[in-house]
Amino acid sequence: MSAIPVFAPQTVIEPFRVKVVEPLPLPSRAERERALELAHGNLFNVRAQDVTIDLMTDSGTSAMSQEQWAAMMRGDESYAGARSFFEFERVVRELTGKKHVIPTHQGRAAERILFGVVGGAGRSIPANTHFDTTRANVEASGAEAVDLVIPEGLDPESEHPFKGNVDVARLATFLETHAGKVPLVLVTITNNSGGGQPVSLTNMREVRRVCDRFGVPLFLDAARFAENAWFIKQRDPGQQERSAREIAREMFGLADGALMSMKKDGFGNMGGFLVLNDDALALECRNALILTEGFTTYGGLAGRDLGALAVGLEEVLDERYLAYRIASTRYVWDHLRAAGVPLLAPAGGHAVYLDARRFLPHVPPAELPGQSVSIALYREAGIRSVEIGTVMFGHTLADGTQQPAALDLVRLAIPRRVYTQSHMDYVVEAVIHVHAHREALGGYRITEEPARLRHFTCAFAPL
Ligand SMILES: *Cc1c(COP(=O)(O)O)cnc(C)c1O
Repeated sequence: MSAIPVFAPQTVIEPFRVKVVEPLPLPSRAERERALELAHGNLFNVRAQDVTIDLMTDSGTSAMSQEQWAAMMRGDESYAGARSFFEFERVVRELTGKKHVIPTHQGRAAERILFGVVGGAGRSIPANTHFDTTRANVEASGAEAVDLVIPEGLDPESEHPFKGNVDVARLATFLETHAGKVPLVLVTITNNSGGGQPVSLTNMREVRRVCDRFGVPLFLDAARFAENAWFIKQRDPGQQERSAREIAREMFGLADGALMSMKKDGFGNMGGFLVLNDDALALECRNALILTEGFTTYGGLAGRDLGALAVGLEEVLDERYLAYRIASTRYVWDHLRAAGVPLLAPAGGHAVYLDARRFLPHVPPAELPGQSVSIALYREAGIRSVEIGTVMFGHTLADGTQQPAALDLVRLAIPRRVYTQSHMDYVVEAVIHVHAHREALGGYRITEEPARLRHFTCAFAPL
């Protein structure tokens, strides 16, 4: 028998197999047309049962593992001091190294509590980029939310490996000119509003040094901390030999506290936390928690949720999972890039972003090119994406025209452990098909809109 070369597969396989199946809705083109009509062109108003591949968000849409489901069955629903809380507390504390672990029903509840305590008029919260609910909670407290991401983070075509990095020089200047007015610095990992781009460990260490110099605490907005740790392992010099867990623990160790939406890297359908070391601040936050969320050992969650989240937080650092996760996002990005589809570069962790202005150069930003691409993907293939551009961040001017946002993107967010490679091949094929026929797509106008957060409910008509 002659030896054959060692099998070194190029295919990155899903590191799980399917145990429970959920039928995939396959509406016909006529049914999709009808659904679009009923929704007035707003994909938030389309029922999920009319969507074949739902890439609207990666938040709360993960598939749970058998161990998470088992933890659900073991959930302790005692009002106070439930066993499930102590499992949750142990896992969160082991990862973050923080003394106080406060569960919340989702990320924005932790934001409201923290900024309700440390925010207020005259204060400023600098960050790389504030996520939209974070910004809204900072501003609702009366404080100012300031974005200080590096310039490459704002350039859709820059291939910088850590486009989520904080501009450390600008941060130092900001802390100097706002002495006494900054209760904390926030670093979002990965930088969601900047395209899911990571922050390097090197950058986080520099931010820590600047915070120390000015005596200001550092907090993380850690919704996608595991994806960020994996990017550091891949791209940050000298980090290749360390485990994702070691890197994640160092990231949290650099901070004085953290907030997390566990609907992302917690593999939860609901949940979040706030962690910190400061005793006095923790006491105030717990009092605020009791007022609106619930007692300190459940914070708006069922015992079974806490149990499943504790398991999820351990599973997400499995390196076979992280390698697959980042490779599968990259897979979609690579195939679209090779076909000449204009994309935000480089591939992020949780989503692929189409650059709608370059996708539809004949549709001016005021005519909502992102909405047009998003509607076409649904009409042609039943794929639901989300416009992140003029609909979300622009506004209607006095003459009825649109003030465009900085960019017009269409986000294809990839739920965790939900879709297979053939689903992604279908998505790639659909995007390439729509791109090939882009000249046939026209612009849209908004026919009705509410005063705030219009993208959720406004109505559209083709021009
Ligand atoms: C999702 C998210 C939040 C808000 O969390 P919710 O659980 O949706 O309330 C905050 N920050 C970042 C970076 C997020 O991605």
